[in-house]
Amino acid sequence: MNILSDYHVHTSFSGDCSTAPELMVQNAIKRGIRHLCLTDHMDYDYEDKGVLFEFDPKEYLRRLLSLKETYADQIDLAIGIELGLQPYLSKKHHNLVFSNSFDFVIGSIHLVHSQDPYFPSYFEGREESEAYLEYFQCALQNLKAYSNFDSFGHLDYVVRYGPNKNQYYFYERYKEILDEILRTLIKKDIGLEINTGGYKYGLGTPNPCREIISRYRELGGKIITMGSDAHEPMYLAYKFEQAADLLKSCGFQSCFIFHNRKAEEIGL
Ligand SMILES: [Zn+2]
Ligand SMILES: [Zn+2]
Repeated sequence: MNILSDYHVHTSFSGDCSTAPELMVQNAIKRGIRHLCLTDHMDYDYEDKGVLFEFDPKEYLRRLLSLKETYADQIDLAIGIELGLQPYLSKKHHNLVFSNSFDFVIGSIHLVHSQDPYFPSYFEGREESEAYLEYFQCALQNLKAYSNFDSFGHLDYVVRYGPNKNQYYFYERYKEILDEILRTLIKKDIGLEINTGGYKYGLGTPNPCREIISRYRELGGKIITMGSDAHEPMYLAYKFEQAADLLKSCGFQSCFIFHNRKAEEIGL
């Protein structure tokens, strides 16, 4: 049973979350999580009907460092961030990451040419497979533009929102581009996040799907991070037992946590 490390969790520093950081930490302690990393959204230039996905990093670090101290004997709290990647933002992300001491940085794709697949308009007027392919192409483009992060968030996020979700979605169909993404991650020493939000969205699997996790290992990938993407306390370490079983069946025996951007291996 793996509820040891949840390394993708939001708090009210994220535009789409109203759970106070302290409440999240207290709930993680109750849930028996040993290593928790809070990873609030920093999505520059995200235009969504008044929701702002940006926060003040200095204030964030100040608040979270104080929580880290307060609960030091009950939980290992790490301070992370989820960067919303867009190729032209690389310089801004570079400056942000270098001028603030985060323990862990997730790179995620939420916008494809300024459009979030979360909204149905992303899929309008085209085949679902085309929309999925475009997401993966954008992921690769982003990886080439900026790669100073520790784990790649929810690699097939787009599938959560497709009209047919993962019904007709198979690794084989996107093999070429997915392999290139995985090879790039491995070459750059970037981890692959197992995001159990996929279960919440009814996919029956985490993001990415089993075949991608398996392929990552086959190609030599070792760095796995586990994240629930919880925005509410009830989703902390959501379906982590199931995800750990899946990882073991793909040949993994461990996952990784980070402190000061350094990877540490822990058991599943
Ligand atoms: Zn995300
Ligand atoms: Zn997230």
